[in-house]
Amino acid sequence: MTKEHKESPESNESEYKSLNFIEQKVEKDLEDGKNGGRVHFRFPPEPNGFLHIGHAKSIVLNFGLAEKYGGKCNLRFDDTNPAKESTEYVDSIKEDIHWLGFDWEDREYYASDYFEKLYEMAVKLIKKGKAYVCELTGEQIKEYRGTPTVPGKESPYRNRSVEENLDLFERMRNGEFEDGTKMLRAKIDMASPNMHMRDPIMYRIRRYHHHRTGDKWCIYPMYDFAHGQSDFIEKITHSLCTLEFEVHRPLYDWFLDNIAEPGEDRPEQTEFARLNLSYTIMSKRRLLELVENSYVDGWDDPRMPTISGFRRRGFTPESIRNFSEQVGIAKRDNVIDVAKLEHSVREDLNKKAPRVMAVLDPVKVIIDNYPEGKVEELELINNPEDESMGSRKVPFSREIYIERNDFMEDPPRKFFRMGPGREVRLKGAYIVKCENYVKDAEGNIREIHCTYDPHSKSGEDTSGKKVKGTLHWVSASHGFKAEVRQYDRLFNDPAPASHKDRDFKDFINPESLKVLENCVLEPSLKDAKPEDKFQFQRLGYFVVDRYAAQGKPVFNRTVPLRDNWSKRAKQK
Ligand code: ATP
Ligand code: MG
Repeated sequence: MTKEHKESPESNESEYKSLNFIEQKVEKDLEDGKNGGRVHFRFPPEPNGFLHIGHAKSIVLNFGLAEKYGGKCNLRFDDTNPAKESTEYVDSIKEDIHWLGFDWEDREYYASDYFEKLYEMAVKLIKKGKAYVCELTGEQIKEYRGTPTVPGKESPYRNRSVEENLDLFERMRNGEFEDGTKMLRAKIDMASPNMHMRDPIMYRIRRYHHHRTGDKWCIYPMYDFAHGQSDFIEKITHSLCTLEFEVHRPLYDWFLDNIAEPGEDRPEQTEFARLNLSYTIMSKRRLLELVENSYVDGWDDPRMPTISGFRRRGFTPESIRNFSEQVGIAKRDNVIDVAKLEHSVREDLNKKAPRVMAVLDPVKVIIDNYPEGKVEELELINNPEDESMGSRKVPFSREIYIERNDFMEDPPRKFFRMGPGREVRLKGAYIVKCENYVKDAEGNIREIHCTYDPHSKSGEDTSGKKVKGTLHWVSASHGFKAEVRQYDRLFNDPAPASHKDRDFKDFINPESLKVLENCVLEPSLKDAKPEDKFQFQRLGYFVVDRYAAQGKPVFNRTVPLRDNWSKRAKQK
């Protein structure tokens, strides 16, 4: 690929320009023959929660680059902080990456598998006089650190001999000291303008049970030490991370300067802007809060911004991958409108989802001049966007259901749906005229009486009538009742976590879930299987809940057909 650019720069100019800055760097490195022409990436989740849509972006970036440049991408669990980690999270992470369509082959790694190697690397630093065992308390560490404008003070333990440090570090490992009483620190520069370079902590004593190493270790490496060295051990070439790690980069390089031998391949860290989405919370701590306090029904609640939540909501892997690619890679933080993600799933399902009829809030219509007991099997095409999806038979009879809000007793002129004396087409069937209606004691419409024009059948209409409205419907005796969960955005504020003095949970949208129990669906949907996706005509996209019982589908709304949030936002 790189060669192509060189040989015919003109013809490939636009392609070259459209490369993002990370691709440009990768291509330059390939051109320079860096790392022997290898490219190797990794996706390094901490197993302390489910993956969210921000992680999806990182997955698409890392695995995508590996695919594009014929390299590899490892899955590495960054499991160095056992307090919050678990195998439940490990399993969910693997399932989500596979669902997105990526594969790490046999390269499933754990930072915890490197504890021994990391320990040896720390010993190497001690031997070089580049690390020391410190006994300051947490309080004192803070005090000694200084501030960005005031240099820190050196620890009184900083100039211990190599022998003493080696002895103490080994005894730390052997469990001779209480939690928190000693730590290993890198010996860098307490006056550095970069706070991360002021003798950062490398190891702490913590008697935690680790989900993989059990009680073998009572000292655990800090993220900054473990991460870069894990990259080095795995021979990663490009270590991509989000912008907040930019200030950690000098430390990332400092460790490798002191650990890698001359001539060895070394990973390089490159930062990109994390994905932020409007109306969405992405911090795992806050997502956990929603789960633990039952604001939602688990990590994979269809309103959660987790990959498993989107899956249960009916999003396709393609819609998430396309979205991630379309928003691109930026060097500065920004916020992407969640409407873009919703657009992406509409675009995908528009082509893939069969279009069917479902009435969510039914009211009965009786066609008085249609013969009692007669049933016509009407042929309806499944998706005009894709002829290969074929057609299906939909029964039509004297009594049908339509949507309650498709009828008005006293409609305005421009209401092109049903009203007294008005004519509308029933989708794929006949033109009907509303003759009268009956109300119950509370004043609700109980049934609507119509007549139909036998010459107006769809596809063979000789009635000469022109009607503006077309309604969806379901035959009353053929349709079946099902539960539909009408999901909407979880927050009704574009930036729920940005308000000072307000908790993000104050902005939970009380209408984010409406359970509709009396919906009537066309009979073909009875055979729908978990995760089958449909367009309910005029209403939106819906998916059969993954956990619905066989033969008893529950449908989750993925998105309505059109975005009605941007309009709302403008009206405010
Ligand atoms: P959180 O802050 O939500 O807890 P994290 O960054 O601590 O997320 P990790 O499990 O450490 O979670 O993340 C794994 C990888 O995913 C990291 O490389 C991280 O940079 C990347 N990542 C996390 N959030 C985003 C995001 N919003 N956009 C892009 N990449 C992200
Ligand atoms: Mg992290």
